[in-house]
Amino acid sequence: MNQEKSELYCNGLDAGEVAYILQMPGFKLGQFPFRYLGIPISYKRMPVGDCSRLVEKVVERIRGWGARKLSYAGRLVLIRAVLTQLHSFWARIFIIPLTVIDKITRICRNYLWAGSDKYGRAPAVSWDQVCLGKKYGGLGIKDCRLWNTAQIAKYTAWLATKSDHLWIKWVDHIYMKGRYWYDYSPSLNSSWVWRTICKVKDRVKAGFINDVWCANQGQYTVASGYAWLQGDLVKVDWWPMIWNRLSLPKYTFIGWLMIQERLLTKDRMLRFGVLIDGLCEICRTQMEDHQHLFYLCDFSSRCWDLLRAWLVVPLPTTDVLQWCSRWRCRSLLKKQLVHAAMVALIYHIWMARNVCREEHRVPCPNNIAKEIRCYIQNLYKSNEMKSRFSLVL
Ligand SMILES: [Zn+2]
Repeated sequence: MNQEKSELYCNGLDAGEVAYILQMPGFKLGQFPFRYLGIPISYKRMPVGDCSRLVEKVVERIRGWGARKLSYAGRLVLIRAVLTQLHSFWARIFIIPLTVIDKITRICRNYLWAGSDKYGRAPAVSWDQVCLGKKYGGLGIKDCRLWNTAQIAKYTAWLATKSDHLWIKWVDHIYMKGRYWYDYSPSLNSSWVWRTICKVKDRVKAGFINDVWCANQGQYTVASGYAWLQGDLVKVDWWPMIWNRLSLPKYTFIGWLMIQERLLTKDRMLRFGVLIDGLCEICRTQMEDHQHLFYLCDFSSRCWDLLRAWLVVPLPTTDVLQWCSRWRCRSLLKKQLVHAAMVALIYHIWMARNVCREEHRVPCPNNIAKEIRCYIQNLYKSNEMKSRFSLVL
């Protein structure tokens, strides 16, 4: 018996079935692993080395031209593009070993925080938090492990409903032999792929009530499986302010870090053991911490006052989180413009602090307020024009 035939036998086919398949036109005996669209396909666990092309592709994109010089917001876009390709192409075709998923996650995490695939800086926010949806306080990056599990769970849903699919019929005939799917346990000599599918089935079976998927009107989708695997999440009050469609991405990212008090202010640097003087870079009279830098410093409070007077809105004086849970506005456009102005101001205060640190000069609050005013006025004009245009249409 040659090796290829023995592989067919190992997969549960008897001699008669192998002979039957081989005499069918268009079928010939092949060998695992084979390549499909450049991706190695195997019924065995894919050796990590065979997935190296996948890791190389991620690193190539990240090391590509200009990728190092991107801002946080630009890096976030690039990571999303790389991971979308991974989820929508590679993970749909084969089960990615966890070692490879963890390696890709590590590369993306290093790139987000340090601009390189190598570790260069401690992450300001945990990867678990980064992978939460924007409404739940994260950046909306997909968790590769969970997404891959949700992809595999798709087979679980197919098997539960006995879809009219050749592979399902084959699996039922070879492995399950008419047994109830949710009580089924694979034998120890089953293939790695089959055992992985069964392991995922055990993890997600609580989501199938009487064999019907508990969300999305009973239709299993990878997105609904992913949401279910994430569990019950709590929305944060500040998400409409930060993820405002009118805000520039560079403002948004700094705003997202600030609202979680994760910007590297001097008090945090001292806590991490960095030897520096802790004085505020702008006023040089008080210790620099989150509260002082963004609200209490004379420079910052002057900027807030100018913005408050112009917008005629009671903007926060000490705590933007509390303000987000209390402030209400009936006009959606006004709400978005006020949010955009606040996130822009947070960005400018942080940048002013960095300018002071590097260039030893304090930007003028009036100039910052003027810049934000122009930015908001332009946003208003373009949105007004858009709404008029849609009315004409
Ligand atoms: Zn100060």
